[in-house]
Amino acid sequence: MENENLLAIANEFGSPVYVYDSSKIISQYDRLSDAFKKVKRLKLNYAVKALSNIAVLKLMNSLGAGLDTVSAQEVELGLKAGVKPSNIVFTPNGVSLEEIEEVSALGVQINIDNLSILEQFGTKHPNVPVCIRMNPHVMAGGNSKISVGHIDSKFGISIHQIPHILRIVENTGMRINGIHMHTGSDILDIEVFLRACEILFETAMNFKNLDFIDFGSGFKVPYKLGDIETNIEEFGSKMTKRFNTFCKEYGKELTLGFEPGKFLVSESGYFLAKVNVIKQTTSTVFAGIDSGFNHFIRPMFYNSHHEIINISNPKGKERFYSVVGYICETDTFATNRRISEINEGDTIAFKNAGAYCFSMSSNYNSRYRPAEVLWHEGKAHLIRKRETFEDLTKNQVDVDIFSKVAETT
Ligand SMILES: *Cc1c(COP(=O)(O)O)cnc(C)c1O
Repeated sequence: MENENLLAIANEFGSPVYVYDSSKIISQYDRLSDAFKKVKRLKLNYAVKALSNIAVLKLMNSLGAGLDTVSAQEVELGLKAGVKPSNIVFTPNGVSLEEIEEVSALGVQINIDNLSILEQFGTKHPNVPVCIRMNPHVMAGGNSKISVGHIDSKFGISIHQIPHILRIVENTGMRINGIHMHTGSDILDIEVFLRACEILFETAMNFKNLDFIDFGSGFKVPYKLGDIETNIEEFGSKMTKRFNTFCKEYGKELTLGFEPGKFLVSESGYFLAKVNVIKQTTSTVFAGIDSGFNHFIRPMFYNSHHEIINISNPKGKERFYSVVGYICETDTFATNRRISEINEGDTIAFKNAGAYCFSMSSNYNSRYRPAEVLWHEGKAHLIRKRETFEDLTKNQVDVDIFSKVAETT
């Protein structure tokens, strides 16, 4: 997308606003499919939690992607977008047996990540095939907040508990049709990831009736110039070879699954905000925007770096800024950031705002959540309206239980 397109969208739909470029989502999907084109049965399930707008789910469906979901509500969103239940996987963590049963009854593939639920579900529904989420105890990435494969992680069933899994399977007569892992975001080192895959292959040999192996996600995308990016092409060629030989050993053509979120949508997104105030202090120049961590929490929650462009003045002389929000918290999006000169009223764009941005937004400070716009084939489509005051109050119950207004003198 060009600066002018983004500016026109900010002018038409107001600010702050999220914008997603569908062509980037499509090219990322194609890139990943291409890297694994020599796998006979490949299934890419988009991780809905990264960006859950129904229009985006429809786009994924049109590309042939399935969905990876973590709540009954995400499943419902997928169904509303027209995705078939058989194209949805439910991979929750720590949810109730009732929620798993509810989703399973819809015909969605369920993925169980603890022994207690496995035993209860298998006892009650021995005829429903189930996938098991394993924890291979391998950390593929660096950031502990987004890594879920380590020994103390709450995710998955430990590979050391395979004997217990097998006992449950035997006693209940349930069928395990898939094995899964998701070691968390950020595959920095392909070799480390492949090691985790080996552990999963070894695990898979314990189960005779598998249809698929799902290797989760963690594909890293660049957030700034020079960032390490998962080399998908190299990873694809190594993994394909290994997977195909595994299928021979196993004696059956299995489906190879992945569930990327960030890889598919991160770079498609821009978060546009207007600069309300330029504030010069003794130590820095603040650019205060009409947003805060209520709309865009990644820089503060994950300490993540998002490139910032002043789209109102892209060629201006560069200066150093601290970009901050307007809520009553320290909400710093960037410090000492070199940005072309900002004037009050300018619109700035944060890049990589497709994944875990809108979907993590809130109404803190009683602010409205932003609008969302999908840029598709040269046209801007509003896919979520900006909230209104009614949205803030519609579920609040206005009780009439206080006798009188205290008078002050
Ligand atoms: C969040 C999540 C993903 C997606 O992770 P990304 O890093 O966004 O690709 C995949 N699988 C599961 C089970 C998840 O919880």
